[in-house]
Amino acid sequence: MKGLLVVVSGFSGVGKGTLMKELLARYPDQYALSISATSRKPREGETEGVEYFFKTHEEFKKMIDEDAFLEHAVYNGNDYGTPKDFVYQKLEEGVNIILEIEIQGGFQIKSQFPDALLLYVIPPSAKELVNRLRKRSTESEAEIFHRLQQAVTEAGLIENYDYVVMNDDFEICLNEIHQMICLQKKSRMLRKKYALGLRDELVAITSKENE
Ligand code: 5GP
Repeated sequence: MKGLLVVVSGFSGVGKGTLMKELLARYPDQYALSISATSRKPREGETEGVEYFFKTHEEFKKMIDEDAFLEHAVYNGNDYGTPKDFVYQKLEEGVNIILEIEIQGGFQIKSQFPDALLLYVIPPSAKELVNRLRKRSTESEAEIFHRLQQAVTEAGLIENYDYVVMNDDFEICLNEIHQMICLQKKSRMLRKKYALGLRDELVAITSKENE
């Protein structure tokens, strides 16, 4: 596979959606964003096939039975899953594909694709996270409280991610994410392309010196 599989996770409200939109706008040839299926109800302003493919729980279960997902998980009582086909197609085209998914899904991806890059976006502080959640005013206070409880659980698992980036200054964070992806891709290419060739050269040199 030529493209890189990139998982971007982060506490609800940390701004990862805005970061990913901007990454795609700036580098349209390099990135594609996977669109997940979910059994969650659409929020105001969300469009079918843009933010998500909205499914009933039964439709979602059918997709699981048909092995249509790369990974899937239950979050906040709703089903979320990454459809396989689009991801494979983009990877084959050499495009880096971004999965903006929660942490359980991230671990499923890493176990299937050890080459995948797992990034976790954190806020500068817990207080700032609460501010951001309230500011976007898409959730009720009870939902916000629930999402913060979820964040407590997730906080203990972050260390299993490859990199953690802080979304304090938007531009810096965006740049760091782009650089990490470029470096990971380059390193993977160098490892594959040169490691064996270099080994053969070293074998040739050392065997000559032993003669
Ligand atoms: P929201 O309901 O706020 O759009 O998303 C809730 C959480 O589900 C977010 O952390 C989001 O990243 C995650 N999510 C979205 N799509 C998927 C998916 O396909 N798989 C998994 N595992 N999580 C997802």
